[in-house]
Amino acid sequence: MRNVTAEELKESAVTKGIESIPVRECSICNSPLCFVVRNTDLYFSSACACSDYRTNPSPREWGDAAAFINSQTSDQVKQKIAALFGVEIGVPDGA
Ligand SMILES: [Zn+2]
Repeated sequence: MRNVTAEELKESAVTKGIESIPVRECSICNSPLCFVVRNTDLYFSSACACSDYRTNPSPREWGDAAAFINSQTSDQVKQKIAALFGVEIGVPDGA
């Protein structure tokens, strides 16, 4: 499987109007922790049911999201998260 780039994540999410990308769950309450897209900017929201801090989502670089996806050891997870950004990276090796 190929890797994703920051540019294609941004272009895909922005042009497709994707606003929220749940990438994993809180290990305690299982609430989804999400990348959030606002205009052309990316944020990460870690607000969840067991977290008592209600801060605004914190800014992230698109490269952070690309690195997060590319660092996944599971091809299935990598493919799934890329797809949430609207980016197809092919089928998992061996599938
Ligand atoms: Zn939680």
